Amino acid sequence: MDPGLIRRCAADLLNAKHAVAFTGAGISTESGIPDFRGPSGIWTRDPEAERRSYEIFGKFLETPREYWEEALKSPFYEMIERAKPNLAHYALAELEEMGILKAIITQNIDGLHQKAGSKNVLEFHGSIYKLRCIYCGCRFPRSEFEEEIREKKVPLCRKCRSPLKVDVVYFTEPIPSDVYELSFSEAMKCDLMLVCGTSAVVYPAAELPRVAKRRGAMVVEVNFEETSLTRERVSDYILKGKAGEILPKIVEVVKELRKKSF
Ligand code: NAD
Ligand code: ZN
Repeated sequence: MDPGLIRRCAADLLNAKHAVAFTGAGISTESGIPDFRGPSGIWTRDPEAERRSYEIFGKFLETPREYWEEALKSPFYEMIERAKPNLAHYALAELEEMGILKAIITQNIDGLHQKAGSKNVLEFHGSIYKLRCIYCGCRFPRSEFEEEIREKKVPLCRKCRSPLKVDVVYFTEPIPSDVYELSFSEAMKCDLMLVCGTSAVVYPAAELPRVAKRRGAMVVEVNFEETSLTRERVSDYILKGKAGEILPKIVEVVKELRKKSF
């Protein structure tokens, strides 16, 4: 961890008028949820799971009943439900509470930012805790449908009676237009984007830091390793290391600098 860069990042956050965070699976690995493509990633260990993930949206469209027989069986979901936020999630929540961070755009489906207290969270790839109607766009808490799910009935939208699916955005499924528009609007208006724990290779999400950069924002990465954003010079600089160690340090220095300026 480079103390000079921590200081620089803290100062840049304090100077920003509209800072946002963009997070990926790497911010939750310290909560015990593996990423997909890392050395102990889910797909690295089980390539069959990757193949299945490309079929699930088609299955929902063709036979919702069969989809619902499988949808919540994944051990990945159980692991997520047991997970707790880590210091990185809490640090971002604190930056929002301090009025510095205006929004978090996350690719994660684990709800850990909200569990840590973050308020303005845009779940670009949805959430395992909600169900969504792809026909009218309504979302509902999954907890309201536990009975149907237990009895293996297809849950139906309360507004238009269409079959519901889990809110999680599957491969080949379009990003819901509401969260898509809000996220791109944040990327266009931010003057600093703090990119944490994402390899930034899943599109269209990976377009967000690139849009921010083109609009003149500063892009700062927190990651174990260099990513496509580092190599393409989309990011201005990278803080290398664990998000759960770096982000709390940044918060600490932000507080110190704030005290000094009063
Ligand atoms: P990814 O697996 O492609 O990349 C993860 C990145 O995080 C890597 O660059 C890795 O170096 C970095 N990283 C891992 N642990 C870190 C740590 N402790 N500190 C700092 N950096 C760390 O993940 P992605 O870019 O988010 O893309 C994967 C897609 O899969 C996303 O769209 C997401 O929806 C989904 N996913 C979500 C979860 C979750 O909700 N927790 C978990 C796995 C995958
Ligand atoms: Zn509906």
